[in-house]
Amino acid sequence: MRKDFIFQTLVRKSMILCLLSITALFQVQCSGSKNITEPSHKESELSKRQAFFDDDWLETVTGNMPLIISAPHGGTISPDAIGDRDCGTKVMDNNTAELAFEIENAFGQLGKKPYLIVARLARTKVDFNRDLEQATCGNPQMEYTWKQYHKYIEEAIDAAIKEFGYAMYIDLHGQSHPVKRLELGYLLRAPALQKNYESTGNDSEIGTRTSVQNLLENNPKLILKDLLTGENAFGTLMEKSGFPAVPSLDDPHPKEGEPYFTGGYNTRRYTASDHPKVFGMQIEANFQGVRDSQENRIKFANAFARSVNDYLTFIESNWEY
Ligand SMILES: [Zn+2]
Repeated sequence: MRKDFIFQTLVRKSMILCLLSITALFQVQCSGSKNITEPSHKESELSKRQAFFDDDWLETVTGNMPLIISAPHGGTISPDAIGDRDCGTKVMDNNTAELAFEIENAFGQLGKKPYLIVARLARTKVDFNRDLEQATCGNPQMEYTWKQYHKYIEEAIDAAIKEFGYAMYIDLHGQSHPVKRLELGYLLRAPALQKNYESTGNDSEIGTRTSVQNLLENNPKLILKDLLTGENAFGTLMEKSGFPAVPSLDDPHPKEGEPYFTGGYNTRRYTASDHPKVFGMQIEANFQGVRDSQENRIKFANAFARSVNDYLTFIESNWEY
């Protein structure tokens, strides 16, 4: 009798333990999925997310000029503890982090320093050029890091505006399309670029859709056509320095069927009307002759620094902010 009783108690105890474990597991899973849809602001939740953050994953430079450059896709750090993204593209933009720091060096020779926000964490873990949901594919481990990246961009923009009254924002990427040139993304597709190039003056309907909309809004002397394909357009200045670019004076718009990146989440977010003192573009740099060796990265960076200087001089001479 007694033996049976002990046995039965043991069975009951193990069942309770088992049930408790199942409940605990279930709760972990539930709270896991709850985090995705309803972010909790509890202290413990925050520290759990911060546990998945390492200072080495994001590198920043505080600038002394109104230029902010982010490089979201050049990271190589790939911790095993973080699951790979299972949505969207995971392609890395090779050597764009190195290119960003070479640009910093080039400006250094002119006594200037741009603000930099460079991802060192791989795109397979988080995509800093997507909204939170696509960026993390629902992985709550990556929320804090994504938010930090964008907090650093916001802080850089705020600091530049406070000191200089405006900020030029560039989101730096790498592309591998057949035509080897810089693709400057002003948030316009090829047909709109063509229409603007063939227009005689300012097309306000097109202007309000671009990443230079705030610039146009505040400076009636500036014309979109000049900004994209004129003598002082950024693409023209790069082209004159030996780095073909589209749009530019010589290559005003991609031809039909040519792949071309118009600009993504970051460009849209930071040049929108709720950042009224910001204008900019996405730059998709080709590999050969730009990113492929340190020698070429230095050449590109020097041309880039001179072109930004000339471009900002042109903008400021038409300034009415
Ligand atoms: Zn990219």
